[in-house]
Amino acid sequence: MSRKLARKVFGLADQVAERLGRPAVFMEVCGTHTVSISRMGLRSLLAGRLELRSGPGCPVCVTDHQEIDMMVNLARLPGVTVGTFGDLVRVPGSQSSLERERAGGADVRVFYSPLDAVAFAEANPQKEIVFLGIGFETTIPIVALSLAQARARGVKNFSIFSAHKLVPPAVRALLSDPELKLDGLILPGHVSAVTGRRAFDFIAQEYGLPAVISGFEPLDIMIALHELLSQLLCGEARVVNKYTRVVREEGNPYARDRIAACFAVVDVSWRGLGVIPQSGLLLRETLRDFDARFKLNIELFPPRHPSGCACGEVLRGKLLPLDCRLFGNVCTPVHPVGPCIVSSEGACAAYYRFERSLLIGGGN
Ligand code: SF4
Repeated sequence: MSRKLARKVFGLADQVAERLGRPAVFMEVCGTHTVSISRMGLRSLLAGRLELRSGPGCPVCVTDHQEIDMMVNLARLPGVTVGTFGDLVRVPGSQSSLERERAGGADVRVFYSPLDAVAFAEANPQKEIVFLGIGFETTIPIVALSLAQARARGVKNFSIFSAHKLVPPAVRALLSDPELKLDGLILPGHVSAVTGRRAFDFIAQEYGLPAVISGFEPLDIMIALHELLSQLLCGEARVVNKYTRVVREEGNPYARDRIAACFAVVDVSWRGLGVIPQSGLLLRETLRDFDARFKLNIELFPPRHPSGCACGEVLRGKLLPLDCRLFGNVCTPVHPVGPCIVSSEGACAAYYRFERSLLIGGGN
């Protein structure tokens, strides 16, 4: 990272803090940014000058508690193989987790891609393979591709349990919360590669806040902070793309078309944020043959939320992981109470790995 740039950012942060009478508060919306910022130790370096809060950018973390229960119940169905990305298996539901079900004999497999799950279904026609579709705009196109592939190859024992979510409506929901006082946002680079920059223009136009689409290297993040602080000092509010090596102004229309061909936009519930209008995706009616929600009888029971878990507040940027009273004692990556400490992109996991020393006063 350029020292000159770092010095400029620190200087700007001081000027902005003086003008506001308090440190500016920025939110990084993406879990990958959260990890990069924690790894850099940037929060503690900027303490007193600038506050960086994590938002709802970890797809595993925002998957609703009841959806986790439904996934666990899917794994309990005879003849069903549940395929998933890795981090999801350890998220605790009301009664169990996918990992616990697997230990009890359920067929739960980690696939690196839903395309691998289609290939597995093709090779195992006696099983029903359900791929758990979680993730944002970044991962949804590959799930759409897997559906197209299953259809083209006539693979009938493959289905998707869609719990996909869309980032711009969640950002809007956050900014509509009068209790959350933010001065700017660092926007997710990979999501923006699909949505394009304009999808986030409402942040400046409707909420008067600056926002920057950023890459994930330390230099990218410092450039983003420099842009946000410069805009604040000048009294400007624009949504700027500083990740031009990946993100185009119009995003990726082909990926968006693939998504739209398979999924309908619906209101869905996010962990910690509640139901957000038009923020999730369910399979279109024409794809019911591939929709686990219709194909299989998934039992539902009232969710039991873990007592004392503050994941909701952490995901809304209202509480730092270190301020959750379960952090590091009752709740650890080995014995998780909530999802934010399980997922590699979860804020609690990032703090546990890189920032715990702030709490215990020593090194990791
Ligand atoms: Fe949830 Fe555990 Fe994080 Fe507390 S420390 S917010 S219980 S994941």
